[in-house]
Amino acid sequence: MRPAPAAVVGLALLLMASVPSLAYVPGGAEVNGRLVPRHWPADRLPLSFKVNDRPLSLLPNLAANSALAPAIEGAMQAWSAVTGFGIRDGGSVPTLNPGLDGVDLITFADTPQNRDVTHNLNAATLSFWVVPTGEVVEADVVVAAQTAWATDGRPGVFDVQEILTHELGHTIGLDHSPIAAATMFPFSGPGVTLRRTLETDDVAGARALYATSPSPDRGTITGRVLTTDGISVFGAHVLATDAGGIPRVGALTARDGSFSISSLPAGDYQLYAEPLDGPMTPDNLDGAFDEARRDFQTTFAGGTAPAAVHVTGGGVTALDPIRVAAKRPAINPMLVGWVTGAPTISLTGGPAAIAPGGAGLFALLGDGLKAVPASGFLFSGSDVRVGTGIQRSADGRAVFLPITVRPGAKPGARNLYVTGPTERAALSGSLEVVAP
Ligand SMILES: [Zn+2]
Repeated sequence: MRPAPAAVVGLALLLMASVPSLAYVPGGAEVNGRLVPRHWPADRLPLSFKVNDRPLSLLPNLAANSALAPAIEGAMQAWSAVTGFGIRDGGSVPTLNPGLDGVDLITFADTPQNRDVTHNLNAATLSFWVVPTGEVVEADVVVAAQTAWATDGRPGVFDVQEILTHELGHTIGLDHSPIAAATMFPFSGPGVTLRRTLETDDVAGARALYATSPSPDRGTITGRVLTTDGISVFGAHVLATDAGGIPRVGALTARDGSFSISSLPAGDYQLYAEPLDGPMTPDNLDGAFDEARRDFQTTFAGGTAPAAVHVTGGGVTALDPIRVAAKRPAINPMLVGWVTGAPTISLTGGPAAIAPGGAGLFALLGDGLKAVPASGFLFSGSDVRVGTGIQRSADGRAVFLPITVRPGAKPGARNLYVTGPTERAALSGSLEVVAP
C-alpha cells in the first residue's frame, strides 16, 4: 500500500536548462548527516509510465512527421538495459498534469500548469518520495510545450528521446552529473542526441541504487578530499578517468570529505578532485549539496605527477587523501563548441562531439584563460591532440584549439585540462569521440 499523501514530505523538482545560456549523483535528502538516496522500493518495480493520450495535438511545437512512441520507448530501453528492472510504457491516460494521483505520468500537454512547472526549461521531473526512507511513491515527467521538439535529431530543435532519457534518470532517483558527456549532465542544446545513450557514470548511478549484488569484474576506489590544512572538503567532484583518457565514474564527497567511486571496470585510473564551480554548480542539484565547498583548486591524486590508481575486480582500492589548495580558482573553463566558420561559434550546451579521425577548431570559453599558455591545453588520454596555431578572442575569454583525433580512437568522452602558471582546471567530459 502506498503511504498517505501526508507522509510524503519530499518533493524534488529536477529541471533541465534549455540553453548554455558522474559523478553520478544520487538524488535524496540529508537525514541525520547522511545522504538518503531517492529510490523505488522493490515492490514497485518494474516501473510503468502512462502517457497522456493526445500527445500530438497537445504538443504544439513538435515537428511534422515526428514519432513520439519510438522516442519514448528508446528512452525507457536505455535505463531498462542497465537497472536490472524494466521501465515500460503503461499505455495512455487522459491525465494532463502532474500531481500525486497514483499515476506515473509522462505528459506533453500544453496546459497552464505544465507551463508553470517547466517555466523556461525543457522538461521537469516531479518525484514524490518519503523522508527519511528515500522511497519514491510516484514520479511524473513534464515535457515543455513551449520548446520546439523533433524526434529525428534534426539541427536547431531539441530531441524528445534525449530529454526523456535524461528525465527518466531523475525518475529512478538520479540527480545531475558534472560530467558534460553524461546523460545526467544538466545542460543540453538543440540538435543534440548524444545523451540518448548512457555513459558509464549514468550506469554506475543506476547500479548503485538498484544492483542487488556487486559485479565481480568491477571495483571501487575510496578516499577523502582534504585541504592542505587538513580540513574536510564537502561536495568536491572526484572523477576516475581510465588509461585511455575516458572519464568513467565520479562521486561527490560527503561532509567528512570521503568519497567512494564504484562500478569501475578493473584497470588503471587517474583521479582528480574539482569544485562544482561551473558549468554545473550546486544550484543544479536538489539541495543536499547547497553548502558544497567551491573555493579550492582542481587537484590530481598523486599531485603534479598523477599516480595511476589500480582497480581490481571485486576489490576496493583505498587512496591517500587528495589534498587541495583552499584557494578560489582563477581559471575556470565553462563552455565548449566548434568554430563553424569565422566569426561563427556554435556552443553545444554539453560536450563537443567529433568522430575518430576527425579534426576541428574547438572553442573554449571561460575565466582566466588569458594566463594559460598554448601548451596548457590538453585532453585526457593520447587520442586527441591539440595542434599549433591556437587562436584567442580579443578579450581573452575565448580560446580556439585546432584539434585532431586519432583514426583508431576509442569512442567515449575526454576531459579538457587547462594548466596555467600556478593552477590547473578541468572540464570533465567536454569532448565526446563518437562512433561514425
Ligand atoms: Zn535534469
